[in-house]
Amino acid sequence: MLPAVEKEEEKERIVILGSGWGALSALRKCASPNKSIVVVSPRPHFLYTPLLASSSVGTITLRSACEPLRALVESAAGSSHSATFVRADARFIDTKNQTVIATTDSEGTELHLSYDKLVVAVGAMPNTFGIPGVQEHALFLKEAEDSVKLHAKLLNNLEKAVALIRHTKGDTYKKEIERLLKVFVIGGGPTGVELAAEIADFARNDVARRYGDDIADKIQIVLVEAMPRVLGPFEESLANIARDHLIEKGVDVRTATAVTKVDEQSVTLAPSTPRNATAEEKARALSQASVEETGALVWAAGIGARPLVKKLAKSLGQKDMRGLIVDENLKVKGAENVYAIGDAALSGYAPTAQVAAQQGKHIGRAIRDGKNSPFVYNHAGSLCCLGSDNAIAQLLVPSSSSSFPVWEMIGKPVNGSNGDERALTGKPAFVLWRSLYFTKLLSTGSRFSLCADWLKAQINGRNVVEPV
Ligand code: FAD
Ligand code: NAD
Repeated sequence: MLPAVEKEEEKERIVILGSGWGALSALRKCASPNKSIVVVSPRPHFLYTPLLASSSVGTITLRSACEPLRALVESAAGSSHSATFVRADARFIDTKNQTVIATTDSEGTELHLSYDKLVVAVGAMPNTFGIPGVQEHALFLKEAEDSVKLHAKLLNNLEKAVALIRHTKGDTYKKEIERLLKVFVIGGGPTGVELAAEIADFARNDVARRYGDDIADKIQIVLVEAMPRVLGPFEESLANIARDHLIEKGVDVRTATAVTKVDEQSVTLAPSTPRNATAEEKARALSQASVEETGALVWAAGIGARPLVKKLAKSLGQKDMRGLIVDENLKVKGAENVYAIGDAALSGYAPTAQVAAQQGKHIGRAIRDGKNSPFVYNHAGSLCCLGSDNAIAQLLVPSSSSSFPVWEMIGKPVNGSNGDERALTGKPAFVLWRSLYFTKLLSTGSRFSLCADWLKAQINGRNVVEPV
């Protein structure tokens, strides 16, 4: 006898907002014939964020970092056709009527999507902290199009500077050439550090090779961090190794320095002050502010909640607008049948792909089985790529491996970690970074593409064709 085919209206209707790490993991776990799943996102691809820094200087192509969403949704749904993708921007969540209002385009064609269960996995957006000029003048590194813009800006500035250096006489354009070739990366978190390292490699290898050492030597990369040290999430000695490596590559690393204003062609920097600084201390710091010219400024100073998330948090009476407050089962507090995961949720974990993917899997299972349970995060460690042949890794030794001495052979114990964390640096960490992120790619097509990109970059150098 053939199995009974459930009618569409009898299926539980699941709406997943987002097409990133959290959304995709949730979809893959909850897709089943008795669910009708709708994935809603303005972005028709999944973005593999760890490759974004290298795509912005042409080490890899975006083809390797972006996966078409329709194919992923279809493969998760399988033959049951239980999932569909809608390209739309969710604008409002009506938790009383269990409906999401989304728009398909900027003109605002509205869709009303009802749900039995809703997963909010819309991630976060760059946080400008209201600093004047950032929104208008800075470049970012969050979405695929950000990396295209950044790549174009770097190459365009380079060509303009080369034209002035090679085809003008005297010192008339000295300051302009300096400006065009000075790049500021703001924020010494993992995004800023990985990007500064990639730009430094691009300058040292590809600019030197294609434009000459005299041009490469003129490129200045400044990494600005408000805190006293870079890479806050890493143990200090590892972070210092990363900092020293950047300095060796020629990056000007400025810690305890905050950006206070950004203009079209300049940035204002001042010594940073602690949050509890007195008005007098703040005024003293501001009086020491200096303005520097720049050809490109990338804002990698952290993330904040999206408007949809803030609107929902407010409508539920939540007080913290940095994300959606969830309970231990990842259910949004104050709402029925709504879950929040990843960067959109305030769950007590760092906003990383590792957390978002695990939360997505957890929620996907809970929806599939109709059973909520507390989320337990399993941290594997942190990795930060420092460009060609270098990285740092802070790895957690699995508790099950205490009688398994292989971990004794990997790296060194992390300072102050009671032996449960190991540190790896240099080439071994780089090989680990590449292997791990290569195996975690979502399709064979992307793996082929990434292999080809890495090989091409190794043999021919990075891509220096300005994106159009
Ligand atoms: P995202 O992956 O950001 O996905 C959010 C999705 O929601 C997107 O598809 C977006 O288009 C969609 N969306 C937005 N608004 C709406 C709306 N209104 N309606 C519907 N959909 C919407 N983490 C690591 O663990 N390891 C790394 O190596 C690492 N490298 C990184 C490198 C960079 C350059 C960056 C920026 C981040 C990196 N991260 C890394 C962090 C990691 O990418 C994020 O923590 C992760 O993407 C969060 O997953 P998410 O699903 O919550 O959100
Ligand atoms: P972040 O919040 O980790 O770092 C931003 C940095 O900018 C902070 O150190 C902050 O002190 C600094 N900053 C803020 N305002 C400033 C100002 N006005 N002037 C100067 N500096 C300022 O942000 P991120 O690096 O984008 O990372 C976001 C999340 O993504 C984190 O959870 C991170 O772990 C994750 N991520 C991970 C990796 C990786 O695992 N390799 C790579 C990228 C991002």
